[in-house]
Amino acid sequence: MKSGPQLIPGDEPFRSMSDYAPLLIWASGTDAVCNFFNVTWLKFTGRTMAQEYDDGWTEQVHPDDLERCLAVYTAAFKKRDAFARIYRLKRYDGLYRHIADRAAPQYNFEGTFTGYAGYGMDVEELAEIPRLREILFGITQGEQRLNEELAATNEELSASNEELAAANEELVTANEELIQTRGALAKLNENLEKMVADRTDALTKSEAAAQVLNEELISTNEELAAANEEMVTINEELVNSREEILKSEKLFKSIATNIPKSLIVVMDSDYRILAAEGELLYKTDNGSKFDESDPLVMLLPDCHCKPFYEKMLNGRQFTVDQKGAEDRNIRIEFVPLRDDLGEVYAGLIMALDITDIKLAEERSAKLAAIVASSDDAIVSKTLDGIVTSWNASAERIFGYSESEMVGEPILKIIPDDRLEEEPRILDRLRSGERVDHFETKRMTKDGRLLDVSLTISPVRDNDGTIIGASKIARDISEKKRDETRKNDFIGMVSHELKTPLTSLSALMQIVRSKLKNSPDTFITNALETAGKQVKKMDTLINGFLDISRLESGKMAVVRTQFMLDELLVEAIAELKLITAGNLIHIDAGEKVMVYADRDKIGLVILNLLTNAVKYSPPTSPVDASCRIVGGKAQVSVKDRGIGIKPGEMEKIFDRYYRAETDYTHHVSGFGIGLYLSSEIIRRHSGDIWVESEVGKGSTFYFTLPLPDK
Ligand code: ADP
Repeated sequence: MKSGPQLIPGDEPFRSMSDYAPLLIWASGTDAVCNFFNVTWLKFTGRTMAQEYDDGWTEQVHPDDLERCLAVYTAAFKKRDAFARIYRLKRYDGLYRHIADRAAPQYNFEGTFTGYAGYGMDVEELAEIPRLREILFGITQGEQRLNEELAATNEELSASNEELAAANEELVTANEELIQTRGALAKLNENLEKMVADRTDALTKSEAAAQVLNEELISTNEELAAANEEMVTINEELVNSREEILKSEKLFKSIATNIPKSLIVVMDSDYRILAAEGELLYKTDNGSKFDESDPLVMLLPDCHCKPFYEKMLNGRQFTVDQKGAEDRNIRIEFVPLRDDLGEVYAGLIMALDITDIKLAEERSAKLAAIVASSDDAIVSKTLDGIVTSWNASAERIFGYSESEMVGEPILKIIPDDRLEEEPRILDRLRSGERVDHFETKRMTKDGRLLDVSLTISPVRDNDGTIIGASKIARDISEKKRDETRKNDFIGMVSHELKTPLTSLSALMQIVRSKLKNSPDTFITNALETAGKQVKKMDTLINGFLDISRLESGKMAVVRTQFMLDELLVEAIAELKLITAGNLIHIDAGEKVMVYADRDKIGLVILNLLTNAVKYSPPTSPVDASCRIVGGKAQVSVKDRGIGIKPGEMEKIFDRYYRAETDYTHHVSGFGIGLYLSSEIIRRHSGDIWVESEVGKGSTFYFTLPLPDK
């Protein structure tokens, strides 16, 4: 039985050593099978270990030598003898070389046979020697030669034998070293095993100890974790409370700094200042920092505040008004701060500069007194018309008490037929306008109608935004009654004057016609002048009568269609009957028909012409025109007279108004002509106005709507 292929037979040291030997070394096992060939062999044959394995190597042995070669090996093997043989072995280059091969049985250190090991040498060169070849390969030559050659060969052989012996010795030494090394290794191994065992034992023991330790560690760890958690919670609480403190500090600061002109101080029970903040803190003249032991000293240099602090820390809450630096009014509130048990642990001192408030209070007290004592109703309201204040006179005039009116709409006192006034007034107020002396009627609680004059002004807040209105209502009913009485009187007087004047005028006309041809020119001239004066007087009396009618609402407008341009010409002609001198130029080229009260419009034109003559130098010309402008009939009267100041151009249309000038002092008049004219034009839905320049002259205009076609 052959043992399985063993590509690397024998011991590793042996194998590597043999690889480097210059001999063709081989080995076989206990089954005689060749199982090892060294590198030198394999290089020689140029084959692999697998090819040479078992009897593969015999393929390379010369066929003539094989049988003998194997026979020598088999015979020796059986007997476990060493043997030597020569045979031809094919080299890698295909050439057969003579190999001298020696082999010996092998035993391990226990003495057991392990197989054969052999080593061969290429002795081809030796084979070249003929005699040696004869000897070696059975070719006989001469005995002499043979002996010589044999001797020589012997020498050579012994030399190579020696080499082989030396190699063998080396091998043996190596083997011994190997055996020794093995022993040492075994020992080492033993030691190692022991060490491992000891170590394992120690480990096992220490594992048990470690287990205990580990358990302890785990429980400690758990405790630590719990402690850690507690720490985390405490930390969080700390962070929270710190945040809370920061927050309240911030809050304190922002409260204190946001209260204008204030100083807030927190003092502990030992009179130590815990916090002090506020605008007043930084208002020192020299910019120096406040006195930390007593921040109030800076505000109230003359104040001995210690007793106040004592009182506060003794649990009393109180307010003190003091005069501070620069005569400022300082109000100080002392508030004790108590803990849960009611013990005072600190005090809060709040100082407020109330100088401005005091001033404002004084001012508003004065105003309130004025409002309260005023004879006029003084009312304030929102821009939505809701009453916000109602003084005593308002109560007296309108009959409603303050509580009945505040919060109520002002419409309560406006008569139904005047309800549209309120939105118009509110509109004007919203745009910042003021309504001055607006005469109207208001209704009392008991339903009486009062004549009132209203002055309404917008009320603004500190930023100038209109937030409401103040209204002063003056009861002018009595005044109105007076006026009516006066008008009635004027009307009555005028009427009484008119009758004799009419008869006087008629009488004078008769006398004039009778004395028409009288040679006495004085009489005729005097009569003419008297006629003009009577006419003037008549005009004046007519004016008063008209005013009286107007005021009492009795001035009726009687409309007819007529030519305005013709009326203008007539008026000029009439004027000439009264006055003389001024040259009146008419530009009445356009035919303008209107639908109006002819007499009254005639009166207006005559008024304007009379004024133009009255308020200009005697010979200065007057231009009058009648045209259609912008779809309306327009009459203008232009003079080159004294002119009117800008501030008076509005007022001259008021009743009884006369401009105060040196010139007008010498001109007779009552200030009723323009008032009457404007009322007449207003009743015709027209406009009347003036353009004027002082010293250059004035142009009066009025318009009337054109009649519908
Ligand atoms: P009277 O002329 O009687 O005073 P009016 O009502 O007609 O009254 O006029 C009012 C005032 O207007 C006059 O007193 C005068 O001061 C001024 N006035 C009127 N017309 C003129 C004018 N053409 N030029 C200058 N001032 C005038």
